[in-house]
Amino acid sequence: MNDSMRRAAAILLVILGGAALWWTGSGAPASASANDAMVATIAAARERAAANDPRLKPASRFEEGGWIYVHLEGDPGAMGYQHGYLLGPEIEDGFAAVSAGMMHSTERDWEFFRKAAHEMLWPKIDAEYQQELQGIVEGLRARTGSKLDVDDIVAFNAFEELPDYYVPWLNKQQKTANAPNLKSPGNCSAFVATGSWTKNGQIVMAHNNWTSYRNGERWRIVFDIAPKNGYRMLMDGFPGVIASDDDFGINSGGLMVTETTITQFEGWDPKGKAEFVRARKALQYAGSIDEYTKIMLDGNNGGYANDWLLGDRKTGEIAQLELGLRAHKLWRTKDGVLAGSNWARDPKVLKEDAPQFDPANKESSPNARRARWDELLKENKGKIDVALAEKMLGDHSDTAQKKEEANERTLCGHVDGSPRGVKEWDWQPYYPGGAVQGKATDATMAKEMRFMARVGHPCGGDFLAKPFLAAHPEQTWQEPYLRDMKAGPWTEFRSSQTPKE
Ligand SMILES: [Zn+2]
Repeated sequence: MNDSMRRAAAILLVILGGAALWWTGSGAPASASANDAMVATIAAARERAAANDPRLKPASRFEEGGWIYVHLEGDPGAMGYQHGYLLGPEIEDGFAAVSAGMMHSTERDWEFFRKAAHEMLWPKIDAEYQQELQGIVEGLRARTGSKLDVDDIVAFNAFEELPDYYVPWLNKQQKTANAPNLKSPGNCSAFVATGSWTKNGQIVMAHNNWTSYRNGERWRIVFDIAPKNGYRMLMDGFPGVIASDDDFGINSGGLMVTETTITQFEGWDPKGKAEFVRARKALQYAGSIDEYTKIMLDGNNGGYANDWLLGDRKTGEIAQLELGLRAHKLWRTKDGVLAGSNWARDPKVLKEDAPQFDPANKESSPNARRARWDELLKENKGKIDVALAEKMLGDHSDTAQKKEEANERTLCGHVDGSPRGVKEWDWQPYYPGGAVQGKATDATMAKEMRFMARVGHPCGGDFLAKPFLAAHPEQTWQEPYLRDMKAGPWTEFRSSQTPKE
C-alpha cells in the first residue's frame, strides 16, 4: 500500500466506525453520552488503523526503571512515524510543559516560535530530518488525534536554542523595550576520562542533565535508533525531539558523546543550521572526533552552545570541542580527563562568545563544580570506572562552603534548596531545577552499545512538587506541569533490548 492508500483506508475505517455508532444510536434521542461514545469510537478506530500501519512493524516500546525505551528503525519517515506513534501521549504532555516554559520566559506567544521554526529553521534542515519530523507529526496524529503540525514540532525540537539564544539576540537586534532578562542555560555536569585515569585504561564517560524539574522529569526516554543510513545510536532523550538534546549518546561507529553548555554564552546566526539537527546528524554520521567536529561546525548557528566531551572507543582518545559561535577550540588526549560544568576555558571563546562570564568567581555554580570535578577526579585517578562515575554524578560536596550540602554548586544539583539560585542563568532563589537524571558508560559497554541510566537526581533523592509549590508561590505558574520527580534505580540499557519477562 502506498501512503495515500493507507491514509484513505484509515479515514474510511474512522468513517465506518463513526457511522456504525451513529446508525445504532439513531433511534434514540441524541445525548451527550452517545456523542462521547461516538468520539471514543472514532478515536479507537483511528488508533486501530494506525497500529496496523506497516511502518510500525520494526519498532517497539517498553518501560523499565522509570525510563521509556523505544526502538526506531528504517527510513527517516518511518522512524519519525514510529517515534510519534509510540510516544504520542508523552509528546503531547512534553510539548505542553516545554511550550509553556518557552512562552513564560520569553514573553512571546507560540505563534512567534512557529514562525521562527517555519521561516528560519526549516529551510536549513536536511531532507532526511525534515522527513523524520514530518513522520513524527503523522504518527502523533494517528495515535492521539493531535492538532500539532510540523511547525509546532520543529519549534519544540529547538526548545534549547530558540528561547535562550535566538530571542535574546533578536531582542538586542530590535532593541525590544522591557525585554525579559534571558540567559543561555547552564545544563549539566559531565566528564570523559581515559588512559592512566581510568581503572582499565579505557574511556569512561558520565553525565547528569541539569534542567528545570518541569522539563527534566519528562527527560526519560532511551532511544535505540537503527537508521537506514548512518550508524546505530543509543541515546537518552526527550519525547518528540530527534536529538538527545541533553546530550548523552553512543554510536556503532565507536563514538561516545556528551556535553555541558557554556554559561553566559551570547550570540546567534539566523542563517545557520539548528543545533538539534547538527547534534543529531553528528551522532548519526560521525565515526571519529574529526568527523564529529566537522559536522557540528557546518552551519553552526550558535544555538545551545556547548563544550562537547567526546570519546573514540576505537583509539582510546578523548576530546573537548568548545563550540562557541565566533570562536571554538578542540583539545584532545589519549591520557587524561576532560570535565564540564558549564564553563568555557579558551580565552578567545570567553572573550568573544561569553564575555560576561567570570571564571574567577569561586562562588558560582559552574566554577564551584569545576573545582569539585578537579578534586574528585584527581583523588580517584586510576580508579575511575562506571560504578564510581555513577557515585560522582550524585556528589554533594560544595567547594565554596567546604561542606556537604545539596545545592546549586554541587555536581548533583539541587537549586530548589539554594537561597542564592544561579544568577548567571537567571535561575531565581529556590528555582525548581538541577540534576534531573544521570548516565554513565565505558568503552567496553559502548562497544556492546550499552549504558547505565537513572531517572531523577543521580544521588537518589526525590523532588516533591506539592510541598515545593506550597512553599514557593512565585512558581505557581508551573503548577499544571510540575510533577514529582522521584529517583529510579541505576538501570542498564542496550541496543535491541527487549522487555524483561
Ligand atoms: Zn543530589
